[in-house]
Amino acid sequence: MEKVLEKEAYGLAAKDESGVLSLFCFSRRETGEKDVRFKVLFCGICHTDLSMAKNEWGFTTYPLVPGHEIVGVVTEVGAKVTKFNTGDKVGVGYMSGSCRSCENCSDGVENYCPKMILTSGAKDFDDTMTYGGYSDHMVCAEDFVIRIPENLPLDGAAPLLCAGVTVYSPMKYYGLNKSGMHIGVVGLGGLGHVGVKFAKAMGSKVTVISTSERKRDEAINRLGADAFLVSRNSKQMEDAMGTMDGIIDTVSATHPLLPLLGLLKNKGKFVMVGAPAEPLELPVLPLIFGRKMVTGSMVGGIKETQEMVDFAGKHNITADIELISADYINTAMERLAKADVQYRFVIDVANTLKPNP
Ligand code: NAP
Ligand code: ZN
Repeated sequence: MEKVLEKEAYGLAAKDESGVLSLFCFSRRETGEKDVRFKVLFCGICHTDLSMAKNEWGFTTYPLVPGHEIVGVVTEVGAKVTKFNTGDKVGVGYMSGSCRSCENCSDGVENYCPKMILTSGAKDFDDTMTYGGYSDHMVCAEDFVIRIPENLPLDGAAPLLCAGVTVYSPMKYYGLNKSGMHIGVVGLGGLGHVGVKFAKAMGSKVTVISTSERKRDEAINRLGADAFLVSRNSKQMEDAMGTMDGIIDTVSATHPLLPLLGLLKNKGKFVMVGAPAEPLELPVLPLIFGRKMVTGSMVGGIKETQEMVDFAGKHNITADIELISADYINTAMERLAKADVQYRFVIDVANTLKPNP
């Protein structure tokens, strides 16, 4: 299929493995009959953007325009679009397409479709590259567009499109969403802090497991966690052994699993959503002795993403953000690499990203 590229676009792109982002001009396709075109207002900075910009996983194609926590306002809809109108507040997350016919797509988990198209840095069905939301506007098939609830501020809502659904989906799928459960959240970054908020809204007792004391006060007093453990403090970890029904691990780097598995009750579930580039060591004895489960999860399907955003609207859940201007991007990336953000950077795209800086 030949695609007509005719609308000029601009954004921020990494051009090599240094990961440094700079202005990049490109084209986006014309609005197809089932497409929604929207002006990007805000875009969250996920740790995945950093890992991709630096080619940490080895499959980055440059130039890479990152960004998959995108919100904006619809400027044009194709002739056959039924769900959206101009002026609607919408978002796009980690994926912008899938085969729509495999078992995964039929089950509403397009995120596991082998032909799923990433919103950024992937080959689209017409062989062009996808460019993400660090850009002035987006074009996306309406079936992959999410409606943002009216009551949510758009800047704080942007990170829900990836961070939000990535923690919400496994809590639901693995049955860790039942009121009264004790849930551990490892790593208090972008994913972790919304994980605390969703788990609290589901009625859980929530314990944050972090690398230092630094975030204790905020975790408890601002984010509403019930308890806080420092993973490097063996006394604190030992005292909490065998108490948790489930753990969502959001850590982006290699770290020991043994102390974390010890926190689970028998039959407890450990869900890895963080994506360290190197393998983790898996101790099997705690699994054998306690029928514990170690598993993983990747974002969520479109129906589930809409459900998560609606749940967030009902419970007033948004991310705690540091709103930045586009010219701060490389400093933000350096700070993100050091876990120095409370708790998600969001780019004020519409007000600060200019084609001629
Ligand atoms: P982030 O904001 O950087 O948060 C990661 C947190 O992990 C940090 O805040 C820090 O928390 C902890 N951490 C960092 N280095 C650590 C180390 N060496 N040892 C132990 N803990 C460490 O990142 P994010 O955007 O939340 O993303 C987290 C991970 O999830 C990334 O790997 C990202 O690629 C991945 N991800 C996966 C999916 C999916 O679908 N599965 C979706 C989005 C992102 P403390 O300061 O509290 O220790
Ligand atoms: Zn992400």
